[in-house]
Amino acid sequence: VRRLAIIGAGPRGTGILERLLANLAARPSAAPLEVHVIDPYPPGAGRVWRYDQSPLMLLNSMARDVTVWTDQSVKMDGPAAPGPTLEEWARRAAPGGVTGPDRPAAPVLSAEAASTTGISFPSRRLQHAYLTWYFAEVVRRAPAGVDVVVHADRAVAVDDLAGPDGTQLVRLESGAEVAVDAVILSLGHLDRDPDGAEEVLADFAAAHDVVYVPPSYTADVDLAALAPGRDVIVRGMGLAFVDLMVLLTEARGGRYRDSDDGRLVYHPSGCEPRLWIGSRRGVPYRAKLTYDLLGGRPDLPRHFSPERTAELVEAARKRPLDFWTDVWPLIGRELSWAYYRELALGHPDRVRMAFADFERRFAEVEWASPAMAALVAEAVPDPSDHLSIPRLDRPLAGRRWDDADDLEADIVGHIEADVARRADTRHSADLGLFAATLSVMGNLPRVVASRSLTTRSRVEDVDGWWWSFFSYYSSGPPPERLRQLLALHRAGVVRFVGPDMTVEADPHTGRFVATSPASPRTVTADALVDARLPKASVGRSQDPLVRALHARGDIGEEVLTDGGTGDGFRYRSGYLTVQPKTMQVLDGAGRPHPRRFALGANTSSGRGGAFARPGTNALAFRQNDAAARVVLDRLAAIDDDVLVD
Ligand SMILES: Cc1cc2nc3c(=O)[nH]c(=O)nc-3n(C[C@H](O)[C@H](O)[C@H](O)COP(=O)(O)OP(=O)(O)OC[C@H]3O[C@@H](n4cnc5c(N)ncnc54)[C@H](O)[C@@H]3O)c2cc1C
Repeated sequence: VRRLAIIGAGPRGTGILERLLANLAARPSAAPLEVHVIDPYPPGAGRVWRYDQSPLMLLNSMARDVTVWTDQSVKMDGPAAPGPTLEEWARRAAPGGVTGPDRPAAPVLSAEAASTTGISFPSRRLQHAYLTWYFAEVVRRAPAGVDVVVHADRAVAVDDLAGPDGTQLVRLESGAEVAVDAVILSLGHLDRDPDGAEEVLADFAAAHDVVYVPPSYTADVDLAALAPGRDVIVRGMGLAFVDLMVLLTEARGGRYRDSDDGRLVYHPSGCEPRLWIGSRRGVPYRAKLTYDLLGGRPDLPRHFSPERTAELVEAARKRPLDFWTDVWPLIGRELSWAYYRELALGHPDRVRMAFADFERRFAEVEWASPAMAALVAEAVPDPSDHLSIPRLDRPLAGRRWDDADDLEADIVGHIEADVARRADTRHSADLGLFAATLSVMGNLPRVVASRSLTTRSRVEDVDGWWWSFFSYYSSGPPPERLRQLLALHRAGVVRFVGPDMTVEADPHTGRFVATSPASPRTVTADALVDARLPKASVGRSQDPLVRALHARGDIGEEVLTDGGTGDGFRYRSGYLTVQPKTMQVLDGAGRPHPRRFALGANTSSGRGGAFARPGTNALAFRQNDAAARVVLDRLAAIDDDVLVD
């Protein structure tokens, strides 16, 4: 028998288990396998998707866009294992009843499953049910000779019993121990201690008896200190903000009602604080698009393809690449091509050139050249149909207001226009652009992983600008959340501070002060929330296992450098370093461990997510398959006489 431990059984750990078992089924002569699945939270769902959280917390993806199963699109060596999307599962599961962890859960989840459509944004609790079913189904499909043992426990240490080539002893919080031949870490998002700037703010808050909430998983934070009526400055307008907004308003008893003019009206419970929100953009993420392309699915990638990325990697052998000079022209062309394709095929009355001609000429003109602008102007007469990424990305850039109320009115107008536009198929070219951003996400990791970019460009342009733009444009909240934000603003619960908001801790008044260069208003408050997920940090992790491994030098924290070839730029990403092809854990000196593997959100292997839209050749699925095959090969190669007994 070979024994394996998977530590962390969220969707990623379960995805790896699925790939291990699917690949094992294709190796009938393999030895029997015992898999120990270790997580204090329910396997499949894990911490993020646990049932025990507010029923108001929603999945940020539509039910039709969530699958945990591999389909034919996934380019991998192992066998695909198709299965239902969340939408399909809900439709099948609803008639028989969906079970939750307790009796009252079942009818509520069954009712939600029955009303779920492809464009629903299901509750995180329904996703919990889908993911726990997924885990059970993966185990049910296991080939003969496989035994899966679940430990509802936390791993606190992994020891080499007889050197790195020997048995791995996993120690659990309960005191139990599990001896295995190899270990896979899929620990996902981890809490960490505040870093330098956050520590300063926390100390300031403690010294002046005010409140500071550092970056955290909003659903897990005690928000009681954000008392009714209290002024709270909130830095960040992305998804962590949306969770915060829900937990401080509707979850405190406020209610939304539709009014006759079609707007939502918020009826406060009186338990809400007043939120002064701002960010660099000064506006929230764009609402999710909930309709289909009119011009059919584009054949992506077109310009930023694996062939072109291979050329980039080749070119980087001569000199390191710069994102804006070398990569963006391909990505920009990809995004623009998909945008104008949908405009031309979905709305032919707004384009006065056959699309075949347009795309041929578009491929020939130099990126961002006057010739390109002229071609677009010739083909698309209405300037409001022209794509401008900078304008989309920073809608308030460079603007100034003499009156803060006018600024707020313009932000309200912007959000109203966004909600209307994202629901209006006349603007379906936006969906073409969206599809291209997803395609880019599939190929850009190749360029990053090959270390073709200068470190500065990779950190500032890819991890910085591109991810920010992608999150803002393509990973925004359900449209209903923006309607709620507008209702909260009308009710006076939310106020907008403006773009490029900065927050100072004023030692004279002992309070936080927020300003925006676009606005004459100064906001003073005795509470500050940094509404964003904590940045990864092996060194500051609160996870006992990560701490223990790091303290012994058994894991390393990724430090990106130019290796002496560039401008000396150095960046500590905070990720646990793994060997990119095998996913083997690298120790503090960069040596791969033969028996330890790690994947997912807190590793240097890239932010691949855990579940994906069907048919998109998702990176996480490819990585899971590749890692599963390496692990199985490694287990098969272990001599029987050194096996765990
Ligand atoms: C608040 C939030 C909302 C999100 N919403 C969406 C969304 O709507 N759509 C989307 O596509 N993505 C969303 N994501 C992205 C998220 O990354 C994935 O959905 C997914 O949960 C990642 O899966 P994972 O298994 O890698 O990590 P996690 O889900 O974090 O699971 C990791 C597991 O490891 C366990 N673990 C950690 N340390 C130990 C230890 N020492 N011993 C044992 N077990 C341990 C944890 O308990 C946890 O269960 C969201 C993320 C967050 C944080």
